[in-house]
Amino acid sequence: MGSEPSKTDESVDYSTEKPAVELAGVTKRYGSQTAVDNISMAVDEGEFFTLVGPSGCGKTTTLRLIGGFELPDDGVLRLGGNSLTGVAPEDRNLAVVFQSYALFPHMSVGENVAYGLTFSEPPSGVSRDERVSELLELVDLTGMAERDPETLSGGQQQRVALARALAPGPDVLLLDEPMSALDAQLRQRLRVQLKTIQRELGVTTIYVTHDQEEALAISDRVAVMNAGHIEQIGTPEEIYYRPKTRFVAEFIGDNNLFSGRLDRLDTDSADVIVNETRFTISLDNNSTAVRVGDQVCFCVRPEQFVVDGSRNQLAVEVVSAEFLGASTRMHTGWETRELLVRTEQPFDGSIVVGFEPTAAHIIPNNK
Ligand code: ATP
Repeated sequence: MGSEPSKTDESVDYSTEKPAVELAGVTKRYGSQTAVDNISMAVDEGEFFTLVGPSGCGKTTTLRLIGGFELPDDGVLRLGGNSLTGVAPEDRNLAVVFQSYALFPHMSVGENVAYGLTFSEPPSGVSRDERVSELLELVDLTGMAERDPETLSGGQQQRVALARALAPGPDVLLLDEPMSALDAQLRQRLRVQLKTIQRELGVTTIYVTHDQEEALAISDRVAVMNAGHIEQIGTPEEIYYRPKTRFVAEFIGDNNLFSGRLDRLDTDSADVIVNETRFTISLDNNSTAVRVGDQVCFCVRPEQFVVDGSRNQLAVEVVSAEFLGASTRMHTGWETRELLVRTEQPFDGSIVVGFEPTAAHIIPNNK
């Protein structure tokens, strides 16, 4: 093995790569209302990072702080490692796309895109016309430069807005619910296109949505926000299967939460007693803080239940069923509570459902 270079060797660059966007202990208050409460996050270069949470949780305020449209009361924001304190919005090399397309109706599609170059030169030495063509191709609107924006569909108009924002070659793209005015099908199509464009350009993107399904579908990492703070940052899989708090478990997708007493604890599994029923749950890193005797909660996704199978079995009564195409979601009763169970085939009456210890996930009760 080669020896490690000495830390005093000046020929070696020890600086680690700086996050593209960083927030450290950022707080924003409006009068007595704390809209953003001491949040910290680091977005990597080229990452698609999403802020998701219920209405009023502080997503837009966070985006506006990054954009420089609001100033923090506390904390520091950095872009590529450089502090943004005192840097005006127009000097941050950021692009912003909002929910409303705000296209200029008296300008053609091409002129709208070219407007994005009003205050800056096109990147990489191309002419303005070349840059406009390049961007229209990128957003799949080649040949539409002469069109009047009002003759385009909502999805096409939003792609023009995106092309206009991307025209100067920003370091970071900020998107605030850009698809919320579109219908569900169009949103799904546009989110695939958006992700493809983002990948192609490799532009660091921070996306705001209240739609948890969209957040999971589109993001490299997701920050789940609640009442001004960040509950958890993780990949869509981590957020879905390993929620760190009850709020995340319940906000992201359907879930069944069980509360009980931890009765046995091993290195890799634990038993939890819920209303006199014993459940065996596998442990992961998030569970290390629990001890025997603690009140804990664990969650099981509706699709993790197996009818007439698995280890942790429950006798439930099907109350109602919703046909969803590829699966059926059943509202069932277990003791005094409701359990959601999702299976390919519908069932009715009394059934037994079970789940594997690895399908459940423990959350300490104080989280
Ligand atoms: P939504 O999904 O509804 O847009 P959000 O998560 O983006 O919500 P924010 O718009 O960031 O939430 O608002 C966070 C909190 O701060 C809310 O309670 C809101 O009422 C408050 N707030 C936001 N902007 C202002 C303002 N300019 N003046 C006073 N209060 C504000």
